[in-house]
Amino acid sequence: MSTASTLLRDDLRGFSGYSSARSTVQQGTVWLNANESAQRNPADADGRCQRYPEPQPAELVARLADHYHVAAEQVLVGRGSDEGIDLLVRTFCAPGHGRVVIAPPTFGMYAVSARLHGASVIEVPLNDAASGFEHDLDAIAAAAIEARAALVFLCNPGNPTGSLLSLDALSTLADQLAGRALLVVDEAYGEYADVASATCLLATHDNIVVLRTLSKAHALAAARIGCVIAQPEVIAMLRRVQAPYPVPAPCIEVALDALQADATQVLASRVVEVRRERERMRSELSRMPGVRCVYPSAGNFLLVRLEDATAVQARLSAAGIVVRDMRSAPGLQDALRISIGTPVENAAVTAAIASMSKVAA
Ligand SMILES: *Cc1c(COP(=O)(O)O)cnc(C)c1O
Repeated sequence: MSTASTLLRDDLRGFSGYSSARSTVQQGTVWLNANESAQRNPADADGRCQRYPEPQPAELVARLADHYHVAAEQVLVGRGSDEGIDLLVRTFCAPGHGRVVIAPPTFGMYAVSARLHGASVIEVPLNDAASGFEHDLDAIAAAAIEARAALVFLCNPGNPTGSLLSLDALSTLADQLAGRALLVVDEAYGEYADVASATCLLATHDNIVVLRTLSKAHALAAARIGCVIAQPEVIAMLRRVQAPYPVPAPCIEVALDALQADATQVLASRVVEVRRERERMRSELSRMPGVRCVYPSAGNFLLVRLEDATAVQARLSAAGIVVRDMRSAPGLQDALRISIGTPVENAAVTAAIASMSKVAA
């Protein structure tokens, strides 16, 4: 029996989900089956929003599969990877009972989705080593097995830490969890990292699930397009839990355009620039007075510990620069997370911080 079929909620076995007007592919020229309006809205002259969209738009699924080098049956498209996280929790955790394992500090939505579903969150904190935050993978495996958690969420590269796990490490952990838990690898920042995607492990591990999104490197956060990549069996299970028409038609269109070769080439060159700026910013910030540490990062952001994070944030704010306050996260009371912007924006950050030490001196 596969890991996913072992873990599927008992009460969802035999559940087929909502059967929408678009659940089965039908042919016709007169569409009178979904109670849509026969007339276009004046604000939608070309009629692209008149009809319900395809539940899983075939062309977009095919293009995403191609982009991520997987099969179309391994892809579920949804409203950002946030929806993927939520679907995983709802599919594999019994309401009020399920358990998930996370490794904080990490992306907040894993715990939020779990809590909203009444699932318990088991935390195996990262170790704060001099070379960056590190996962205690043996402790994660032990905690998941002991608690009988259905899901282990790891963020790779890590948000907010910027740390990176190797494919070997993920493969070992997936082996330890085989038959017991799904290992969800959130690759929201995968484009900025130097390691291959965990999709490479799909062929050898039935319990790997990968999350990808067009929100970060693809610069389409408002389009809300993300996907879950997993065994076709897992995709089919999530599909039954997902809303009938998850992806709005205008978002499908922009995503299709964004996955054309000309757009992805531009994206690749921007990723190169962001990585260059990230390293330049890291070395520049590291040398500034008042900066305790800038962690190495495989993402498009830097996690910075400061002697006076409050004052630095106030100074940045006075310069009109908004950064992410991490001070309420456990172990990060002195930290800010700064996204990499354009070279001009990044220069504004360093100038604002540099101006503080001049005042202080
Ligand atoms: C930004 C982010 C997401 C959210 O992605 P959406 O596709 O916009 O929902 C998911 N995971 C991590 C780690 C993120 O930082």
